[in-house]
Amino acid sequence: MKPLKDLVRLNIWDLAPYSSARNEYSGHVAHVFLDANENPYNSPFNRYPDPLQLEVKALLSKIKGVPVENIFLGNGSDEAIDLAYRVFCSPDQDNAVAIEPTYGMYKVCADINDVEYRPVLLDADYQITAEKLLSACDEKTKLIWICSPNNPTANNINREEIVEILRGFQGIVVVDEAYSDFSRQQTFRSELGKYANLIVLNTMSKAWGAAAIRLGMAFASKDIIDLFNKVKYPYNVNLLTQKQAIEALRDPYQVQDWVKAILNERTRLVCAFRDLPCVMKVYPTDANFFLAKMTDAQGIYDYLVRMGIVVRNRTRVSLCGNCLRITVGTKSENNELLSALRSM
Ligand SMILES: *Cc1c(COP(=O)(O)O)cnc(C)c1O
Repeated sequence: MKPLKDLVRLNIWDLAPYSSARNEYSGHVAHVFLDANENPYNSPFNRYPDPLQLEVKALLSKIKGVPVENIFLGNGSDEAIDLAYRVFCSPDQDNAVAIEPTYGMYKVCADINDVEYRPVLLDADYQITAEKLLSACDEKTKLIWICSPNNPTANNINREEIVEILRGFQGIVVVDEAYSDFSRQQTFRSELGKYANLIVLNTMSKAWGAAAIRLGMAFASKDIIDLFNKVKYPYNVNLLTQKQAIEALRDPYQVQDWVKAILNERTRLVCAFRDLPCVMKVYPTDANFFLAKMTDAQGIYDYLVRMGIVVRNRTRVSLCGNCLRITVGTKSENNELLSALRSM
């Protein structure tokens, strides 16, 4: 990896961040707060929340096995995706390389930040070699995006290839592990000490069942986390989200039960799909969803919508012609889907 200073935008490296009242005050135990122009009434909503969300991070640190100083929290992973561009990529100058197809926000955020986006097609098994991905990079490539398990294809990207990319690339590699709780592949967040150029993304939106509270996380070296914290909005994670996250993180066993139930249903649903006449192929899955090649994705999608059932039509996505992406629901939701498809 290049020295971090050579990868970070100059204006960001030199940035003197906003210093909030809550940032400046720390250390002594205080009980009178007249520093932030808050209203003294309407507790607890009158007070600005912790800008660094330390109580949430302390719980996450234990669950994820990552030190607090290596954790960034944002308004969904989407905030971390946008911040990666804002920290590392000079508009109209730098570029980012990503597997294709993959999660749409990597390209949307590149477009918003006026950063060239270079998609590199997966092969027919939805895999990629390090060599192919690295050959799309040049001296202006600051970021590589790898999503594993990948959305919308649902499979893990081969771990050895990701390792080779981390070793062979001079810039930052982001591994988005939004679905890793549903997979048996070893996660990359335990490898932060090995790779200074690694950023791992996780979210509360999937296995944790908390998409509504908008809490995403990035794990990376302290130097990268410090840059993210410098650029983010001072109070980017609101009090209600922090409170709800703390409550959820105190009961991590609930999540294990949900994951087990979802994986059982996934097996059942995939097996049933393979027997449906309207299904050509079900692709391997390591996530809480799967991709299925249909006889007529658009027609079946429209039919399901008329029955009040919404799945994701991916037919216009590269390598996903005639594919629907199916999220695993509850047993009764899955049964409704199956009986609708059987009585087409
Ligand atoms: C759903 C998903 C996320 C989660 O985004 P949030 O903003 O945290 O809700 C991140 N990455 C991928 C690949 C996803 O599919």
